[in-house]
Amino acid sequence: MAHPAPEQASEQSMPTFRQEANVLRAERDRFLGLAFAAADLLIEADAEGIVGFASGAASTLLGSPSNALPGASLFDLLVPEQVPALRRLFQAAASGLRPQPTVFHFLEGTRPLIVSIGMLPDQPGRLFVTLRAPSPARDGDGTRLLDARGFARAAEAALRQRRVEGRHVRLSVIEAGGFGALEGKLGRAVSSELTSEIGDILSERSIDGGLAGRLAGDRFGILHEGAVDLEGVRREIDAVLRRSDPEGAMVSISAATLDVLGEGGEGEAGVIALRYAINVVSSTRQALSLADLSERSQGLLRDAMDRILELKTIIAASRFDVAFQPIVDLETRHVHHHEALLRFSDGIGPYERIAFAETTGLISDLDLAVVHRVLARTAQAKLRGRAGMVSINLSGRSIEQPRFLEALHKLIASYGFLQGLVMFEITESSQITDLDAAARAIATLRAAGCPVCLDDFGAGASAFQYLRALPVDYVKIDGAYVREVLKAPRDQLFLAAMARLCTDLGVATIGEMVEDESTARFLGDLGVRYGQGFLFGRPAPSMP
Ligand code: C2E
Ligand code: MG
Ligand code: MG
Repeated sequence: MAHPAPEQASEQSMPTFRQEANVLRAERDRFLGLAFAAADLLIEADAEGIVGFASGAASTLLGSPSNALPGASLFDLLVPEQVPALRRLFQAAASGLRPQPTVFHFLEGTRPLIVSIGMLPDQPGRLFVTLRAPSPARDGDGTRLLDARGFARAAEAALRQRRVEGRHVRLSVIEAGGFGALEGKLGRAVSSELTSEIGDILSERSIDGGLAGRLAGDRFGILHEGAVDLEGVRREIDAVLRRSDPEGAMVSISAATLDVLGEGGEGEAGVIALRYAINVVSSTRQALSLADLSERSQGLLRDAMDRILELKTIIAASRFDVAFQPIVDLETRHVHHHEALLRFSDGIGPYERIAFAETTGLISDLDLAVVHRVLARTAQAKLRGRAGMVSINLSGRSIEQPRFLEALHKLIASYGFLQGLVMFEITESSQITDLDAAARAIATLRAAGCPVCLDDFGAGASAFQYLRALPVDYVKIDGAYVREVLKAPRDQLFLAAMARLCTDLGVATIGEMVEDESTARFLGDLGVRYGQGFLFGRPAPSMP
């Protein structure tokens, strides 16, 4: 190793002023970096709120540049109603406590801000204030409102995190009856401004300022800790709406807090129950009034818990069966493959339970269990030399989950000798939100040797969008269209166009719920390749 030059050695033992300054500057920059990682604006103030130093995005957040702040009082920048609250925060910090970050509205600010205050023990009277815009900043629609799915995801994450600390969260629902209609009347620009303001009002009451959502047309939700002054929320929203609807005749606002996480809300079941509650609230099909909801929230929760437990037991104990229904070539009438359909031992139709499994997230476990069962049965049939191709339903919800896909691929690989005998149908594709992710999932299934069919294919515009985005081998035309096709000339045109498009794309078509010969013939003439329905065979318990 080379010896250091003499002058370097002397520099090390006796740092020059310049070096010391460099070290200090590096240190300062590090702390600045750390501070800005957590905040958008840094302020030093005295106990009276008079700013001594400010750095950061003051213009956007407070409406005046940071170099204009020194000498001003933070209390003067705040909306008057909130001054007492900020004073309390200052007093707490000045007495050496570290108060919870709190949301405040500033007079010239564009959005509410999360304010944190701290003090260093050896520097009393100097308060360090950080301000940050709540995350998520603005959502894609320019508001801070999450959509129902995003809300459910974020709420779940927040609940999991708080559960570890033994804290509780609550869900409040605000119904602005008629808001959707008012939006339609006001046009896009005004209504998005309104929505954005409602978003601000709700977000600031929510956990971290980021847990408010528009759950359905007229229904909004907030996830919060402790109590929220719903009457205050109602009044603020009402004031915003009255600017566009002075008589307040169009929108009626009601609000309720659902104690979804009361008794029995602990553990993973609590997460599932919260998910279920959000689903009930965001389902527009649900004809429940808010009053019913809050009154029945405990009952709803208990019901959900019972059903969750029941379904988990059914899955764990494999207490279900599978029926098989043929799909035939419409021209030759030869069986092409069979669809495996879930059957519960208690005779209850699969649809209700599957929908429940989808809303509670248990669907991926259920789907895996069915796949397992069907692969095992197909393997037995193959050993007897009598296996045909079988199609297994997977929920669009399931294939969105990486953990599910991983488990599914393991299962497929362990039954590698069934290569060519297994295909999948993606149901509830209308629920798929991330088409790219779904397309990737479908591609991996095909790469594993399993053709993929898009189930419940409609004739609407979205159908074409799915067809374009998802690389499938088959589409199954929804029975609702098939059953009406003889009576509905317009549907015939759409079906014919779709069948032609599919053929051109190399995608085979299947018509489901074919109940009579004339429909079968008609579909064949339209260019539909395969058919499924009571005409060709009902779902039967034994593997054909
Ligand atoms: P699907 O996948 O569209 O299945 C076709 C449904 O139509 C089946 O109802 C079948 O029994 C019924 N069907 C077949 N031919 C006819 C007919 O000619 N006329 C009438 N009226 N109905 C016919 P099922 O078995 O009650 O299943 C309902 C839905 O439940 C399925 O619709 C599918 O979305 C879902 N499902 C069934 N098994 C599974 C499964 O293992 N996993 C998942 N994720 N979903 C499943
Ligand atoms: Mg199906
Ligand atoms: Mg279908």
